[in-house]
Amino acid sequence: MIDNRSEPPPYVHIKRNAYLIKKKRDGVIADIGCTHCKSTECSDNCVCRVQCISCSKACRCSDMCSNRPFRRDRKMQVVKTELCGWGVVASESINKGDFIIEYIGEVIDDALCEKRLWDMKYKGVQNFYMCELRKDFTIDATFKGNLSRFLNHSCDPNCKLEKWQVEGETRVGVFAARYIEVGEPLTYDYRFVQFGSEVKCHCGASKCQGYLGSKKKITSKLDISWGSKRKRTSTSCLAIVKSNSF
Ligand SMILES: [Zn+2]
Ligand SMILES: [Zn+2]
Ligand SMILES: [Zn+2]
Repeated sequence: MIDNRSEPPPYVHIKRNAYLIKKKRDGVIADIGCTHCKSTECSDNCVCRVQCISCSKACRCSDMCSNRPFRRDRKMQVVKTELCGWGVVASESINKGDFIIEYIGEVIDDALCEKRLWDMKYKGVQNFYMCELRKDFTIDATFKGNLSRFLNHSCDPNCKLEKWQVEGETRVGVFAARYIEVGEPLTYDYRFVQFGSEVKCHCGASKCQGYLGSKKKITSKLDISWGSKRKRTSTSCLAIVKSNSF
């Protein structure tokens, strides 16, 4: 199936997650803030930073504190790639650790997630854009989202997904895993759980596994926990397939 369209397939652009489930606030730490931090710029020991909580109004630090991601997307461009369908390239250089863009979509529960997956499988849809964070909390960018949905998979990616708490809300950000130059394709590891037929990987990395993701069944969902002790945990994605055949 060859697609000659010069525009990516349509989706509804949204700026914040659209909740199709009841929005729950996570914990109360976000309300307390890092009151022990004395500087306007929080250090590596900041209690917010070590827990992947964005500093907020409750914190003593200034608006310029670097532990406040999710504020400005980096400049990027959607491009048609040779082998991997649509992709995204950086339009400015990005330093390691920098926030790049939020992974945005509809927040759905497990029942709706499963229903959508089966619907798409039935219709022969090859592109899933789902990121499962925990039970009954999957961000689905299939119908609504932002440019983050066009990032391709790589077995040797330059970005990673991180789960953060921002003002009590769980959000997923794409962060630079290393320094990224202008024009470089932005990629992350989908940690894909296979749903449907095998999808060949064209990431071109020397350590490419050949196929997207593991061969686990969809029932064995990946468990994702919050980061602890300065170690940011990456999120795992469920059944995100942007196959080369679209
Ligand atoms: Zn701070
Ligand atoms: Zn702090
Ligand atoms: Zn703080």
